[in-house]
Amino acid sequence: MNIPIALDRSRLDAALAATQRGYDLLIDGNWRKAADGGVLTRASPAHGVTVSTYARAGAVEVEAALAAARRAFDEGPWPQLTGAERSKLLLNVASLIERDAELLATLDVLESGKPIAQARTEIAGAADIWRYAAALARDLHGESYRTLGPSKLGVVVREPIGVVSIITPWNFPFLIVSQKLPFALAAGCTAVVKPSELTSASTLYLGRLLLEVGLPRGVVNILVGEGPDVGAPLTADPRVDMVSFTGSTRVGKAAMAAASASLKKVSMELGGKNPQIVFPDADLDAALDAVVFGAYFNAGECCNAGSRIILHESIAGDFLAAASTRAAAVPVGDPLDPDAKVGAVITPIHLEQIERHVEGARSAGAEVVLGGRRLVSLAGQFMAPTIVSGVKPAMAIAREEIFGPVLLVLTFRTMAEAIAIANDSAYGLSASVWSRDFDTCLTVSRGVRAGTVWVNTFMDGAAELPFGGTKQSGLGRELGRNAVADYTEEKTLHFHTGPRTARWLPIRQSGAA
Ligand code: NDP
Repeated sequence: MNIPIALDRSRLDAALAATQRGYDLLIDGNWRKAADGGVLTRASPAHGVTVSTYARAGAVEVEAALAAARRAFDEGPWPQLTGAERSKLLLNVASLIERDAELLATLDVLESGKPIAQARTEIAGAADIWRYAAALARDLHGESYRTLGPSKLGVVVREPIGVVSIITPWNFPFLIVSQKLPFALAAGCTAVVKPSELTSASTLYLGRLLLEVGLPRGVVNILVGEGPDVGAPLTADPRVDMVSFTGSTRVGKAAMAAASASLKKVSMELGGKNPQIVFPDADLDAALDAVVFGAYFNAGECCNAGSRIILHESIAGDFLAAASTRAAAVPVGDPLDPDAKVGAVITPIHLEQIERHVEGARSAGAEVVLGGRRLVSLAGQFMAPTIVSGVKPAMAIAREEIFGPVLLVLTFRTMAEAIAIANDSAYGLSASVWSRDFDTCLTVSRGVRAGTVWVNTFMDGAAELPFGGTKQSGLGRELGRNAVADYTEEKTLHFHTGPRTARWLPIRQSGAA
């Protein structure tokens, strides 16, 4: 069984000493408290101590932030700056993220419970994304058509779409806002950002960095508050031109419905139930490592979690035994310890839900071969890495997103059956295939409906590669070379030169009325 990494008070004290506790809201270039004096507090899920106190936005702050973002867009100067000017500012932000990387990583650890080593790579990845967006800012361009005839020229320009509402979840606080905001800014948009109120600190700290590099007032506004109070109006208000949302499929649907009243553009990154298909000819050692990583990374609280393992029946027994041995050796515990691989679960309620999912599978006839319960030896909210085998595709645990460190094992006989099981899901975010045979890899990666299919690897990513889901995993793509264009709208300019050739009314004779 997993040997828990005990919480270390001196590490916590050092982290608390390095970070601030109180945060205000960023509205129109100023830090403001809530008009009604409301506050929210956040306790570290690993340590149980209060780590942040936020001003809590309500209707007054939503109104002020939307008005500021609208004004900053309509009156400028941000949308009118050159690509080079916007790019320079984004590059400066990237440098400040790197300067303060340890602080940002610590903020995410204290609020989300994720391991510090992982948080450091997320912050480094985020800085890289800001640089990529800066590069794209200078390459935003449209098209021209000289093929319409000698007296015509068609020019298609890309204009910033306007005010964007950016709504993010708690599981990758700094990384996800960095997958959206720099691209919106590169396009010339202004934004109101609403992080999850469970993990808002690093996004608010980003607000400081934006002011430090001289972002004009009102271009980015950051509100902390609960979904119905702050997120909902940001999806419905007619002053917003686009909603960029990452979160659950349930809330994503509500956000889309609200946005439809004024026909806003929406970009949705939602949930997943991602299959990893392993064939007998695969490099099984590599596949095992990826399967354990894919299931337990970020305590399984990951849209990309490879939670559905689909094994060829000829290797299922041995693979499962080896996966159990590895899973039992995963270091779980104090997320401030650099050796921890799995940290705390986000809230007590969520921990109970994960346990309920596992109990439901047991009652439905599946077998819990590892873990299945919280780690009681650790104070705080820690779930033991869990493996459930004997899962049938129709069971709830095979269909619903668990969002915890729970790996499910299904089996297949033929390639067609493997693809069918993989596709038997409302979700279609990502998948992987493990085989040394090219035909198998190509056929499966073409057959599985997902936004990303990894072939002999898992959860690799790069700013250059588009990311997003099919089916109920989302709408649209983030990252990739179209990431800035996504925050623009095309405008057609149709030029005509010389005398009008296709007259509607005949030319009148001189002197005629
Ligand atoms: P939620 O959907 O609960 O919340 C996401 C964000 O939406 C939060 O900021 C939340 O605020 C806000 N919100 C809540 N209600 C509304 C509303 N009515 N209108 C507008 N916004 C609202 O997701 P979680 O934070 O629980 O995150 C986990 C989910 O995110 C998982 O399903 C996961 O798969 C998905 N996810 C998807 C990713 C992807 O790229 N595909 C990446 C990461 C996560 P509040 O916190 O106050 O409720």
